[in-house]
Parts: sequence; C-alpha cells; structure tokens
Amino acid sequence: MTRLLIVGPPGAGKGTQAALLSQLFDVPTISTGDIFRANIAGETELGLQVKAIVDAGDYVPDTLTNALVTDRLSEADADGGFLLDGYPRTVDQVRYLEELLSSRGHQLDAVVRLVADTEAVVERLRLRAVQLGRTDDTEEAIRHRQDVYRRETEPLLAVFREKGLLIEVDGLGPIDEVSGRILEQLAARGITAPNPSAASGSGV
Ligand code: ADP
Repeated sequence: MTRLLIVGPPGAGKGTQAALLSQLFDVPTISTGDIFRANIAGETELGLQVKAIVDAGDYVPDTLTNALVTDRLSEADADGGFLLDGYPRTVDQVRYLEELLSSRGHQLDAVVRLVADTEAVVERLRLRAVQLGRTDDTEEAIRHRQDVYRRETEPLLAVFREKGLLIEVDGLGPIDEVSGRILEQLAARGITAPNPSAASGSGV
C-alpha cells in the first residue's frame, strides 16, 4: 500500500512519471488537472465552472478542488494507495489533505519533486501545446502557470522536507533515467514496487 505525491513545475514530466509509478506500485494516478480537463471537455457543470480559470492558468478555488479530491480518494480503487499528481498546490490544500488522510488513519509515504528549470519546461510545453492542442497551453498561460507554481506551490515543499518525506529528482534528461532516479530514491527509503515485472525497461 503506497501513498505518493508527485510535484513539479508544469512541463516537468509529472504525467509521464506518474503513469510509470502508478503501474509499478499498482495504484491509481489521481491528476486534478486531468479531472478538470475531462470535465471541461465533457461540458459538465464543474467543467463550465472552472474552464475560464484553467484556461487562464490560475488555480481553481481550494473548496472546489478539495471536494473533488475527497470524492476521488473515496472511490474503492484508492483504498489500496494512490499517486496524487498536481495536488496539493496551496497551503490550504496541504492542510486539507493532511486532515483527510489522518482522519482515515492514513499517511503519505513520500513526495517526489521533479526539479526543472523554467526555460527548459516552457520549451517542452510549447511543443506539447502544438502536439496535443491543449487550450490552456497558450504562451501567455504557460508563463503564467510557471509563475503561479513558483510562487504558490514551490514554497509548500518545505513542509514535506521538514517531515522527511521529500525526494528531489532532476526532471531533465531521458524519461527512463528520470524514472531510475525516482525509483532509486524511493528504494533507499524502503519504498519498493510490489509489481517488479512492470519494471523491465525502466533501467532499475
Ligand atoms: P500543469 O502541471 O501543466 O499546470 P495540470 O494538468 O496539473 O497542469 O493542471 C492544469 C490546470 O488545472 C492548472 O493550471 C489549474 O488551473 C488546474 N488545477 C489542477 N490542479 C489544481 C489544484 N490542485 N488546485 C487548483 N487548481 C488546479
């Protein structure tokens, strides 16, 4: 049973690494960004409510985001652990998650931070915007989301560092090298995958 967070600036490759970790540890990835985008695409009530905010690159209000995560973590597949991608991102969300988990007698095992330079990730995002046609990936929004992340989210990592939960990994370089770095640091803390067959090709 593994409970992980993955954190990093937009474009650092969280989604890619999350997919691999989720497979290895046999836990669902819960990406708040993906949930918001799916709702926007499906034109649900939530989607209509958050579209302008997400398109502008701002953070969706905490009350809405916290409620969404509570619902998702209450689904059966999250009982056996999870990997949260893109949450928590604000002081309020960090507190909320801590209380939610402790009320269930749970705690986080580790927080994986992907470290990447702003210019490198802006370049990656420009390419991805073209390839995927993400409507929230205009140049202006890309820059804005970097600023919001550096200002709002990066400082929160100190909380996890103080608790000894923070693993910091260079997010630049080939995908399997980055995965290797993450798995090595998790293993150093005794966090190993229950699903080693899925690890072939990961370099570990
Ligand atoms: P990126 O990592 O590229 O910023 P995400 O897919 O994680 O993209 O998130 C896309 C957008 O969804 C964010 O810019 C924000 O508007 C919204 N969002 C995602 N997660 C959160 C969160 N935890 N709190 C507030 N807003 C969020």
